[in-house]
Amino acid sequence: MIVEMSRIATREQVDHVVERAHSLGFEVQLNIGTEKTVVAILGGHTGKTSTDVFAVLPGVENVARIMKPYKLASREFHPQSSVVNVSGVEIGGQRVVVMAGPCAVESEQQLMETARAVKAAGASVVRGGAFKPRTSPFAFQGLERDALKMLAKVKADLGVPVITEVVDIKNIALIARHADILQVGARNMQNFALLKELSLLKHPILLKRGLSATVTEWLTAADYLLAEGNQQVILCERGVRTFEDSVRFSLDISSISVVKRFSHLPIIVDPSHAAGHFAYVPSIAKAAIAAGADGLLVEVHPNPEEALVDGLQSLNVPNFERLMAELKPIAKAIGRSI
Ligand code: PEP
Ligand code: MN
Repeated sequence: MIVEMSRIATREQVDHVVERAHSLGFEVQLNIGTEKTVVAILGGHTGKTSTDVFAVLPGVENVARIMKPYKLASREFHPQSSVVNVSGVEIGGQRVVVMAGPCAVESEQQLMETARAVKAAGASVVRGGAFKPRTSPFAFQGLERDALKMLAKVKADLGVPVITEVVDIKNIALIARHADILQVGARNMQNFALLKELSLLKHPILLKRGLSATVTEWLTAADYLLAEGNQQVILCERGVRTFEDSVRFSLDISSISVVKRFSHLPIIVDPSHAAGHFAYVPSIAKAAIAAGADGLLVEVHPNPEEALVDGLQSLNVPNFERLMAELKPIAKAIGRSI
């Protein structure tokens, strides 16, 4: 931690900062410049101490951390890239992994038809919302338990892993019995009580980026999932809220590079929720793979006009097949397969 003293700070005020640091068990290094004094606070547990401890002291102008607030998700802590194994499908390895399916499970027929089509087109994980986190309480909330049974049937019949969202603690055990990956939605990225419970599982968890979360906040939230020993964490960039309203969210393509630089966790991209419109999904998806994402999470519906949720952003089957074909040369160009 770096404590920057004000230009008019007295020698006593500087000494007070040093004494406070020593009283907390830290070492200090003083840099007495011509303009101002800077105190470096050193020690293994500075991350557990609030910057306010020093910021409140007289004569202090600013306190900044040099260490990142996240640890377990960081590359410093774990230099090799992590590969998450989902029932034999590796995420974060050489192969780009595509997860696809409807926003919400609407019926057994709808789910099965979509699952067969996306699997045939090359998807290796099927998605489908059972519990839907809707903006309005009056909107369709999902088929819940029935949807979970349908997802389990898809897995049993087609031999393909399934992913679905967990919206609250009370359904974790139920969902974990039916799904291979548990998705934490954007609106729950900082639901720390939920993250702590999920940390106790061995199941892979997909952590979506919050609607207005910084990459640092997102990686710090990932630390909650890793804290109790769950090693199977996948990040998902799905766009953030900006002033731009021609798309639903602005996909932060640069977060892929930032995450790859500072974290060992695999990162996939959801072009559907970012775009909000099917016309934009293919180009965003291709850009994400070109930028180094480990995979995609794409909404596909056999008949988007009839979809109960997110029909406008869902690809129909022919459009999804076309996208899969177009992704192949892009993956190849960056030394990956799909
Ligand atoms: C979803 O994937 O269905 C979803 C609700 O996404 P997000 O949490 O990113 O809005
Ligand atoms: Mn959706």
